[in-house]
Amino acid sequence: MSTNPNAPGTVLAAPARAAARAEKFDTAAIQRQDTAHYMHPFTDHQALGGKGVRVMVRGEGIYLWDSEGNKVLDGMSGLWCVNVGYGRTSISQAVYKQMETLPFYNSFFNTTNLPAVQLAAKLAEISPPRFQHVFFTGSGSEGNDTNVRMVRRYWDLLGQPARKVIISRHNAYHGSTMAGASLGGMDGMHAQGGLPIPDIVHIGQPSYLESGRGMTPDEFGVAAAGWLEQKILEVGADKVAAFIGEPVQGAGGVIIPPATYWPEIQRICDKYGILLIADEVICGFGRTGRWFASELFGMRPDLITFAKGVTSGYVPLGGVLVGDRVARVLIEQGGEFNHGFTYSGHPVACAAALENIRIIESEGLVDRVANDTGPYLERRFAELADHPLVGYADSCGFVAGLNLVKAKAAAVHDHELFDPALEVGMVCRGHMFGNGMIMRAVGDRMIIAPPLVMTRAQIDEMVALIRHCLDLTHADIKRRGWVGN
Ligand SMILES: *Cc1c(COP(=O)(O)O)cnc(C)c1O
Repeated sequence: MSTNPNAPGTVLAAPARAAARAEKFDTAAIQRQDTAHYMHPFTDHQALGGKGVRVMVRGEGIYLWDSEGNKVLDGMSGLWCVNVGYGRTSISQAVYKQMETLPFYNSFFNTTNLPAVQLAAKLAEISPPRFQHVFFTGSGSEGNDTNVRMVRRYWDLLGQPARKVIISRHNAYHGSTMAGASLGGMDGMHAQGGLPIPDIVHIGQPSYLESGRGMTPDEFGVAAAGWLEQKILEVGADKVAAFIGEPVQGAGGVIIPPATYWPEIQRICDKYGILLIADEVICGFGRTGRWFASELFGMRPDLITFAKGVTSGYVPLGGVLVGDRVARVLIEQGGEFNHGFTYSGHPVACAAALENIRIIESEGLVDRVANDTGPYLERRFAELADHPLVGYADSCGFVAGLNLVKAKAAAVHDHELFDPALEVGMVCRGHMFGNGMIMRAVGDRMIIAPPLVMTRAQIDEMVALIRHCLDLTHADIKRRGWVGN
């Protein structure tokens, strides 16, 4: 946060935040209105209506405040996106300035705008060397829709129109549009609305805990990558267009693959000539201690989906980084690509992204996560594995997760798990949420993805808070008779 009173935006944003600090809210009235009119994403309204939503009103750094004045440590960066933390006046100032100058113009008809051009050039600079082009969308889902159309167009142009099939993974998350949800591997999403759409198939996820019994992590990584080759042979190599994956699966529960996984996937993609799409919507912009996690995992993707951290969520923006292999064909042989969005290259969103990236660079956040706070979080978070409820804890940069277990054994595959129907993860999440800590539950795995600005002292504070809430959870489920120890 800027402490310089002359910093751009201070005049504008500080009073707004001061006013929000002083404001009193009628929480019950807001909740009634919410129940009456607002259909939330991924929400059971029947269940929600009874409890009443929590109303978030303000953010500063890594903290949020609700309408009752409670302070919460946001361990999830909003929804994996607020990488530079809340209350960055220079972003609101950049957005304000752009809105005053040119709030909107499209990029369709031989026109462009300054922030979009500058951002495209900046993304080419910070992404791996093969990436010189970018296609902008409004979200990560639209980015993945763009990928589907782009890879099919690519193979059409190369005279191989039969290459349509995109291989993805069970428990992947690639967004919520028809194509995004189809690429994703969430059973609950596929069950609603007749998904997946044709020519999208799935293989198993590289979850060592779930499927690695009897193997070392490295052996399992190679075995899990082998499922891709099996699927290619089953579908027919001449029908496969691309493989898509998150370097680290986020919404699926922070599933960090063994180090051997991605190099083997890459080898298989190369062997059959199929395109590799890295969905870096969560992993991009410093989350794993690199600008893009592809660099960390030894991937050489042809396309990279981005969103979330590109603007730290201040304004919606997404897109696809288009590698030379695909860009050359689309640009030199493709004629018009009949695809685009009204808000592709939205000047206000691009202005927010430029300032966000400037902050990440000037504060050295990528390097901090790689060499300082990331390793520190890894060490502190791993200590939680000594808690009686925690069977496994791992992290990668600024994403981490731990598994709640009923009884611990010497080997991770031998822990006794809770009956999923008990929803112990949700019980734990409730204790976190009620005690000032946002940590998400995916089944019985508790996950975090904190803002990259988090300091060592704040990591200590967060780990202590998590431990306290684990104790509360433990006492609670003992009372319910779910564990004996
Ligand atoms: C959030 C997410 C998306 C979808 O992005 P939206 O902006 O919500 O459409 C796609 N892929 C991954 C990996 C995500 O985490």
